[in-house]
Amino acid sequence: MRAADAVIIGGGVTGCSLAFHLAGAGLGRVLVLERRFVGAGGTGRSVGIIRQLYPTPETTLMVLRSLDVFERFDDAVGGEAGFHRCGVLIGVSAAMRPTLEKTLALQRGLGVRAEILDPADLHRLEPRIDPAGLGAVLHEPGSGYGDPPAVNAGYAEAARRRGAVIEQGVEVVSLRTSSGKITGVVTAAGDEISCPVVVNAAGLWSPAVARLADIELPIVIGRHPVFVVERDPGFGPDHMVYMDLAGGSYLRPETGGLTLTGSLIDDETQHPMDPELLGAEPSFDEASVALERTSRAVPRMAEARYARGWAGAFDITPDWMPILDETGLEGFFVAAGMSGHGFKLAPAVGEIMAALISGAPPPVDPAPFRLSRFAGRAISGTFVSSYLG
Ligand SMILES: Cc1cc2nc3c(=O)[nH]c(=O)nc-3n(C[C@H](O)[C@H](O)[C@H](O)COP(=O)(O)OP(=O)(O)OC[C@H]3O[C@@H](n4cnc5c(N)ncnc54)[C@H](O)[C@@H]3O)c2cc1C
Repeated sequence: MRAADAVIIGGGVTGCSLAFHLAGAGLGRVLVLERRFVGAGGTGRSVGIIRQLYPTPETTLMVLRSLDVFERFDDAVGGEAGFHRCGVLIGVSAAMRPTLEKTLALQRGLGVRAEILDPADLHRLEPRIDPAGLGAVLHEPGSGYGDPPAVNAGYAEAARRRGAVIEQGVEVVSLRTSSGKITGVVTAAGDEISCPVVVNAAGLWSPAVARLADIELPIVIGRHPVFVVERDPGFGPDHMVYMDLAGGSYLRPETGGLTLTGSLIDDETQHPMDPELLGAEPSFDEASVALERTSRAVPRMAEARYARGWAGAFDITPDWMPILDETGLEGFFVAAGMSGHGFKLAPAVGEIMAALISGAPPPVDPAPFRLSRFAGRAISGTFVSSYLG
């Protein structure tokens, strides 16, 4: 039988960031087991938007720490994050404006740089957005988007350089426990690895992995399709990332005159998805509905040509915030439930989880991310509430 000091189940951006930080904390033999290949899960299907608008001090500090890593990824981790600081605009309705103002005041106190524009002033920054229906627009000049598979690979390589081992094509099918403690994992090939710490970083498969220990995670796997369009030649220069919280759509530029777009209508939990369907082609009707919503936000997008799309999915908790905690089974940790924003938070999530596991002081208070917050309480959130509270 083999042995490790910590086994991380899942080689997505969460698992690899954690492996990098755990190996850096001197935890000993850190082993990542990935059933397919690094980036095969939600990370490989991500849109990669890095916005800073978050509703709480803890999430704000997490995104600021993470943004700092994306900005100097080669020095901080190694490799390319593909970070484009194109700026992010976030449109809200008139009803949402007071909450936006309150949230930004809190965030400014923590170091976020952003300004609120009146819709009438939007044309100075992006004349192609239709301001009708908006009550305010937040401009984050330092935000943008990154390349999730590149960041995932960067963390994997950096973790290896620190001595972590990443095994691909290795599925965990069973967990070993004794007297309320985790003692090991068993792979599909029948390999048994004894270890005192196991981390469930299996993203869209995290509920299934937790069930191996008879633990039910409050996570729904909700479908979130993405559509790629070719902008018409007359569209003009690249646009910023635009999240239209009032109208329910988003756009982020891609190289080659392409735009990635999708809906922000908070309907993912109503469309539970088998994670094995990740990457499937959405129907043309589904694309038409989504692209119509996008063209309402940016009318010029009505001229764009639909190129392709894929079914993504989010691992969604009731408050749309991650679970970063040890479970009731000693030594069995969860870093999942990223609820559609786990790419931009991955650098901080890895740091926080490594601290929880090694016993070091966490860089951000992990209390809001405890699993126990859901026990016996009805908590409900939306994707929009993960921006504004
Ligand atoms: C369409 C889409 C758009 C998104 N857009 C954004 C965005 O704009 N900004 C942002 O911040 N976030 C975004 N996200 C969310 C973000 O990409 C995810 O939260 C993040 O990538 C999840 O990473 P992860 O490592 O937790 O999970 P995953 O990437 O899903 O990794 C989990 C891994 O576990 C492996 N695994 C599963 N079961 C087992 C097992 N039994 N044994 C071994 N390995 C196993 C899987 O193969 C997988 O590779 C988006 C996600 C999607 C799908």
